[in-house]
Amino acid sequence: MTVTKDNSNIDALLDRDGMVSMLSKMIAIKALSPKSGGTGEMERAQFLKSVLEGWGFEVKEYIYTDSDGVKRPNLVVKYGDNDRTLWLVPHMDTVAAGDPGAWKTDPFTATVKEGRIYGRGSMDDGQSLVSALYSLKALKDSGSTPPINFGLAIVADEELGSVYGIEKLVEEKGLFSDSDMFMVPDWSTSDGSKVEVAEKSVLWLKFTFEGKQVHASTPDDGVNALRVAIKFFYKLDSFLHEKYNAIDPIFEPSTSTFEMTKHEKNVDSVNIVPGKEVFYLDSRILPRYDIDQVLMDIKEFSKSPEFIPAKITIDVEEKNAAPQSTPVSAEIVKLLRKTVKEYRGFELEPVGIGGGTCATFFRRKGFPTAVWFTGDDIAHQPNEYASIDNMINDAKVFLGLFRRE
Ligand SMILES: [Zn+2]
Repeated sequence: MTVTKDNSNIDALLDRDGMVSMLSKMIAIKALSPKSGGTGEMERAQFLKSVLEGWGFEVKEYIYTDSDGVKRPNLVVKYGDNDRTLWLVPHMDTVAAGDPGAWKTDPFTATVKEGRIYGRGSMDDGQSLVSALYSLKALKDSGSTPPINFGLAIVADEELGSVYGIEKLVEEKGLFSDSDMFMVPDWSTSDGSKVEVAEKSVLWLKFTFEGKQVHASTPDDGVNALRVAIKFFYKLDSFLHEKYNAIDPIFEPSTSTFEMTKHEKNVDSVNIVPGKEVFYLDSRILPRYDIDQVLMDIKEFSKSPEFIPAKITIDVEEKNAAPQSTPVSAEIVKLLRKTVKEYRGFELEPVGIGGGTCATFFRRKGFPTAVWFTGDDIAHQPNEYASIDNMINDAKVFLGLFRRE
């Protein structure tokens, strides 16, 4: 008797055409946060709920009203009769399409080409969502009783901080328990060879520089806020990279990162000296550093006399200290590594990343959580795509997590 897994059986259980069509339908139903100019996830959630109910699953909805008064839905399915549950937690919201001119196809009409499905949210996090849906269906269709319940939590608002998604859901009484296992399929490598177990702290800051707007021909009568801002960031960049320069090889990249990102529109004309500038800084800081100390250093730095006479205000947009890392010896990490080895034939390497998946909220609660799926790093980019083979191969692993020996 051989001990190899019966993959042909699994192949028969997973419906390739069904998965492609499901992801394509989902892409056409926008699920964009009101803060990004959308209407939220309700329409997509109702579609997914009807699909799951059509397959015979009972779906529980957890709906939270956001600050814009929009109802943000989270869907939960639990399948099996055990005391313990292994949760797969994909998210259903997406980011905006971005510059439409940068897309070769319509971001909200799925285009299936050369083994890929193109569209906004196809890979982040649609691919994993569909892998999880179909592995759940396959488990039920196989008629086998799983040794642990299959929990599927499809969450909202992941792209803008999870405030109306997993952050609230983890607080629901009786939903998640200490004895459960958690897996967030929302960070990937092209070959699926890495599992994320640790995160950096996240610090997003907004800098407002206030000077005095004047005609560009008489700059001495005003205070050019842009000049001050440029000087400030040029120096702050070196200061932060030099002071917080530790290297930790488990992380990719191995150092803390401090990146200037968004810049708000200033004046309308070339001949106006801007009196106000607003810039943002995205920092991902190694867990060994105290982020309050980093923030204090930046505030202190901004008081340097060379930046006078502009007034600099610093607002914290997001501040998340890194949660406890998930030990490599955690049961979920061991189970995932074993399953990937059996079904895909390779060893998973544990790594740390810049942070910002639903795993943060589970880890904060003390729940060890593995973050994994297979896909090229094209999240949030134009011409985002999901590979159909990756979607199916990941579904096999997800299903494998629930198979008895
Ligand atoms: Zn994502």
